[in-house]
Amino acid sequence: MSGVFVFVEHDSGSPSETSLQAVALAGALGEVTAVTIGDCPIGGVARHVVIEHPLLSDHAPEAMGEALAQLCRTRSPDAMLASGTERGNEILAHVAAILDLPLAAMVTEIRPSGQNWELTRVRWGGSLLEEASLTASLKLATIAPHAVDAAVGSGEVDAEVFEPDLSDELSRTRVVERVTVSEGITLTTAPVVVSGGRGVGSPEGFAVLEDLAGLLGGAVGCSRVVTNNGWRPHSDQVGQTGTRVAPHLYIACGISGAIQHWVGMMASKNVLAINNDPEAPMVTKADYAVIGDLHPVLEAVVAEVRRRKEV
Ligand SMILES: Cc1cc2nc3c(=O)[nH]c(=O)nc-3n(C[C@H](O)[C@H](O)[C@H](O)COP(=O)(O)OP(=O)(O)OC[C@H]3O[C@@H](n4cnc5c(N)ncnc54)[C@H](O)[C@@H]3O)c2cc1C
Repeated sequence: MSGVFVFVEHDSGSPSETSLQAVALAGALGEVTAVTIGDCPIGGVARHVVIEHPLLSDHAPEAMGEALAQLCRTRSPDAMLASGTERGNEILAHVAAILDLPLAAMVTEIRPSGQNWELTRVRWGGSLLEEASLTASLKLATIAPHAVDAAVGSGEVDAEVFEPDLSDELSRTRVVERVTVSEGITLTTAPVVVSGGRGVGSPEGFAVLEDLAGLLGGAVGCSRVVTNNGWRPHSDQVGQTGTRVAPHLYIACGISGAIQHWVGMMASKNVLAINNDPEAPMVTKADYAVIGDLHPVLEAVVAEVRRRKEV
């Protein structure tokens, strides 16, 4: 079997958006085989391999890497892709180490050239793009989230089961407990992110951002200054050392737009900056900007959105 294998992450049978982006990119390279740990319906692919083993009941990166490596040895694909999430990068790094092959992480573009791939990949948290060549016979790569649109294929294929041979020592790292930290809309999936920076001034200052996010069906994000000050938890931080988001609308309130923040939200479809400094990088790069003190501006926006919802 050859073609391009894509490791698809899923949550209880629902494939992740970023994995479907990897499937879309793979579709331009050859026949796509989706690979899942446990069953998960996938459309628009030529084949679907479901890996099953008792050690793989929850996230277990070493065991998953070994299982994917065995699948590669048995089926000899031309390439194995995954999404460039923490999980995808970790598991494919194990595959690369086991098979003694290079891994190209956080790729945004693949251009086949004879037997090789010419690649563009994201480095330094997105502040630079690297051009590289991948010459290995089996090509391993993770796809940077939001580099391409997700595949929305129809027509599910019958899944075939692959049972790897895994020893207990591969379960050194595994999930033993899950704690729900947030419910409903999350920062990564929210269509609107209302994000606050130092300009918000205090933890209490975020109340109006919460109000606006609630009215727009969005989530609240923040800059690192805010998490450093203990105003919001680290899980809300957007940026190089936080979460990467790509909402339809990113509302940056009192955020200067430092490169480490920008790389976390530059995939947003529209950016609205609210800032009292017209020269702030966030303002000069945004699609829309309101120059002024964010508190009265947001209070006015919240009042107007409420008024329109009530009409
Ligand atoms: C290795 C490394 C990793 C980093 N990772 C991240 C990261 O993941 N995410 C991140 O965010 N940062 C990160 N940073 C920090 C980053 O460099 C900036 O320091 C940080 O983003 C600045 O946060 P800020 O915009 O809230 O604050 P500031 O830069 O202080 O900007 C505050 C802004 O608010 C405006 N303002 C002030 N008062 C008001 C008001 N009342 N109304 C309207 N506007 C107002 C000001 O004009 C200014 O533009 C990282 C830095 C390093 C070195």
